[in-house]
Amino acid sequence: MALLENSVGVEDLVLLEPLDEESLLKNLQLRYESREIYTYIGNVLVSVNPYQQLPIYGPEFIAKYQDFTFYELKPHIYALANVAYQSLKFRDQDQCILITGESGAGKTEASKLVMSYVAAVCGKGEQVNSVKEQLLQSNPVLEAFGNAKTIRNNNSSRFGKYMDIEFDFKGSPLGGVITNYLLEKSRVVKQLKGERNFHIFYQLLAGADEQLLKALKLERDRSGYAYLNQEVSRVDQMDDASNFKAVQSAMTVIGFSEEEIRWVLEVTAMVLKLGNVKLSEEFQANGISASGICDGRGVQEIGEMMGLNSEELERALCSRTMETAKEKVVTALSVIQAKYARDALAKNIYSRLFNWIVNRINESIKVGTAEKKKVMGVLDIYGFEILEDNSFEQFVINYCNEKLQQVFIELTLKEEQEEYKREGIPWKNVDFFDNSVICNLIERNQQGILAMLDEECLRPGVVSDSTFLSKLNQLFVKHSHYESKVSQYAQRHYDRTMDLNCFRICHYAGKVTYNVTGFIDKNNDLLFRDLSQAMWKAQHPLLPSLFPEGDPKQASLKRPPTAGSQFKSSVAILMKNLYSKNPNYIRCIKPNEQQQRGQFSSELVATQARYLGLLENVRVRRAGYAFRQAYGLFLQRYRLLSRSTWPHWNGGDREGVEKLFEELSMSSEEVAFGKTKIFIRSPKTLFYLEEQRRLR
Ligand code: ATP
Ligand code: MG
Repeated sequence: MALLENSVGVEDLVLLEPLDEESLLKNLQLRYESREIYTYIGNVLVSVNPYQQLPIYGPEFIAKYQDFTFYELKPHIYALANVAYQSLKFRDQDQCILITGESGAGKTEASKLVMSYVAAVCGKGEQVNSVKEQLLQSNPVLEAFGNAKTIRNNNSSRFGKYMDIEFDFKGSPLGGVITNYLLEKSRVVKQLKGERNFHIFYQLLAGADEQLLKALKLERDRSGYAYLNQEVSRVDQMDDASNFKAVQSAMTVIGFSEEEIRWVLEVTAMVLKLGNVKLSEEFQANGISASGICDGRGVQEIGEMMGLNSEELERALCSRTMETAKEKVVTALSVIQAKYARDALAKNIYSRLFNWIVNRINESIKVGTAEKKKVMGVLDIYGFEILEDNSFEQFVINYCNEKLQQVFIELTLKEEQEEYKREGIPWKNVDFFDNSVICNLIERNQQGILAMLDEECLRPGVVSDSTFLSKLNQLFVKHSHYESKVSQYAQRHYDRTMDLNCFRICHYAGKVTYNVTGFIDKNNDLLFRDLSQAMWKAQHPLLPSLFPEGDPKQASLKRPPTAGSQFKSSVAILMKNLYSKNPNYIRCIKPNEQQQRGQFSSELVATQARYLGLLENVRVRRAGYAFRQAYGLFLQRYRLLSRSTWPHWNGGDREGVEKLFEELSMSSEEVAFGKTKIFIRSPKTLFYLEEQRRLR
């Protein structure tokens, strides 16, 4: 092993000399150019997307990494997976693996590599293998329905995912639970230039046989579908037709019945067909213009598939019922409103179908509550986003990243310092930015931005994105991490890049300007009641269950929680879950925008390194000690290296370890003796000990 500098740079950034952004980037580049995509920062793994299949995966490598400890072989994702799994199995510590990075950085591939490693090493037997298969096969299904080609990534996950894999006391998998976050449902009806809709639509059209297409009332030719961006239909190296077969068989392996698969495809087809419902202006008897459907056959077919009278569907799409205490008033929608309603329906059907699929998978893989379990959580979630135009979606995604940064800070940095304190080891304070002030700004009850948004959404009277913004401006005019035109004027600071309808947050990773347009709508996430009631009435075996609020008996119940508050509570649950586990980090980096092998853009990587806080991470690691272990355990492993402690040692554990280091003439800089643990400054020393042990 070569932890030390050589032609491919250092394997652990803790060993960089000098340490600054430039040397860090250079080291990553040097390694990347030698096809060494993995580098450590202590126990954190940095992974740079190779954009090519490297010959470093598979059974042979799994076997290799299984037999060695962390620092003995080259940095590898298998080494990290191995440490996590071994700690789970032998130390009874629940683990979580947090994978972060921007779109295209390799998070999903990393999560699959971790899963396949764990699957390969975690026991055998028919029962165990079938659980493993179910867990692994959830990936192609979720990717088909939740991933899409974007400009940044041909297989971009458009949802966040957290998966708990549960094991028995022997370390064999029992099952798991998947949680999904915020599917980007706007993609169903509209895609940016150069992007596609979710993969499943293309897979279905390309892969379904004639009989299935006919049953779903679909045409093979994708150019006929308004919801499918016409300029890009194929993706390099992606075979939609064969992926369709793979998805169907994956669903079967997971335990979907043939009928259930059929229902899912029917609902998918309905969404696609909704996009083709053409609305036009019609004049009513009273001379007022209103919307109407000009292509009757399309609606007829959708109605048949839904098990809903097509007139009823048309009415739900083109009119709106307002109920007051005394009466019901039906108003016709304008064409613009009706198109909005049609698209809202399509987006809602699809995103609810996605949730249904996740729940259905969970039903198959869930483990009884009675069993005692050990858990490994794998988090593959969108990284920090700064786009040209940032909206509600970026706001919540960045909020989530802010929270993850908080977990990182609290669990790593604070814990590190506190442990030194507890152990009575002198500690040079490392300044790090505590981002709780930003988290508070966003999530504080009653006064945070999300709470203000909810308040505005629920307030009677005229509310709009701009009334929301002016509330924020009032409340946060002096907040150190909030900026707007108003707060800038107040401070006589004029910034032309900031528009009136924007606010800006100084996130830990940088400043982001959010445009408030659409915040209220997206947070409300309401579907006209006429539509949910129509869906609930449909005879289709799956569709009505996606719209429980359409049940007239439910209509008087409280309104559903807003998108923002739902997201906030699911993030809170996630945080609680992560805090209860031992974290392992994988920081993914995208080396270039072109999705090309061999190209390394320093500028692009520098920004990501900043978002990921890599330099700070190294500084903390370096200021402290890379390795620590309770005296007893340490002595047990290394006592054979000293004549005083081997073969017999009758003294205390700490004295034994002191004796051992005395005999090895270790520099006093290199080790520190805490109250209960030995601390070792650099991985080199640890490796030296391992090597000595091996030689005995
Ligand atoms: P998003 O946030 O958009 O979902 P992501 O971080 O999940 O992005 P991936 O989908 O994992 O990114 O990776 C993008 C592409 O990069 C993959 O489809 C694959 O082609 C390539 N890639 C990523 N990691 C590896 C790897 N370890 N080996 C080979 N190719 C890889
Ligand atoms: Mg992904």
